[in-house]
Amino acid sequence: MHKPLAGQIALVTGASSGIGTGVATALADAGAYVAINYHSHAEPAEQLAAAITAKGGEAFAVGADVSDEAQIDAMFDAVVKRYGTVDIVVANSGLQKDAKFTALTLADWNTVIETNLTGQFLTAQRAVREFERRGMRDVSKALGKIICMSSVHEVIPWAGHVNYAASKGGIQMMMKTIAQEVAPQRVRVNGIAPGAIRTPINKDAWDTQEKLDKLLTLIPYGRVGEVEDIGRAAVWLASDESDYVVGTTLFVDGGMTLYPGFADNG
Ligand code: NAD
Repeated sequence: MHKPLAGQIALVTGASSGIGTGVATALADAGAYVAINYHSHAEPAEQLAAAITAKGGEAFAVGADVSDEAQIDAMFDAVVKRYGTVDIVVANSGLQKDAKFTALTLADWNTVIETNLTGQFLTAQRAVREFERRGMRDVSKALGKIICMSSVHEVIPWAGHVNYAASKGGIQMMMKTIAQEVAPQRVRVNGIAPGAIRTPINKDAWDTQEKLDKLLTLIPYGRVGEVEDIGRAAVWLASDESDYVVGTTLFVDGGMTLYPGFADNG
């Protein structure tokens, strides 16, 4: 099997479930050693590390709340201690706390912004510091690669989810601004904007046939996405195959951002 990430070290935040698990698995299958970050429950992350090692890969679980700078530092220290450095960082952790605009509490606004946006800022900042500390390695044309997990809601407004949509809109501009700043050092920063991917975060949208049928009206390609769809995109963005891709959001959404409501003459 082709191993485009052989010899590289990856860290995936929020990797104990959903898209993070799919990305960590795909990166490991592509030859990377993978640090699997979890927030509060170690067990699923440890099980994933065991599954990767059982297939002949290399992985370990590392806890951290991505909204806490000291815990981010400790997580990177643990990865560097274990593997020497990190080459690929996927800032994936995220959550939703949904409410009608007038009912949304400041606490739920802050929790979503701190996890989704500030968490990615802290993760990316610490990643670039580590890339700069260790300098070029002969495993990649880039000094390092960062992938920010965004959402189609970086461009699609979403009533009832103002905190989440604001966090993802913020991720888009944060990603592009960091990319502009660090590209001269050959750090590539890009984003992935998933559409509807079958994970625990959006179970409410697909767990009955009726809800699934309604969801599918938003997806021209006619199927819900799977975490493997995002995993494959992450491998490409992390590999030298995408070496000239800098500061771009890759939409992996089955066409959700194509305004399907206009397909039948609007
Ligand atoms: P998920 O709920 O399965 O995964 C989210 C992960 O983030 C969990 O592992 C959780 O433990 C972790 N997390 C939450 N708060 C954290 C914190 N403070 N510190 C560290 N980790 C924390 O959902 P998912 O669908 O896999 O979501 C992953 C990412 O993909 C999120 O950023 C989400 O916004 C994005 N996304 C998902 C979809 C989708 O359809 N599933 C669509 C667009 C974007």
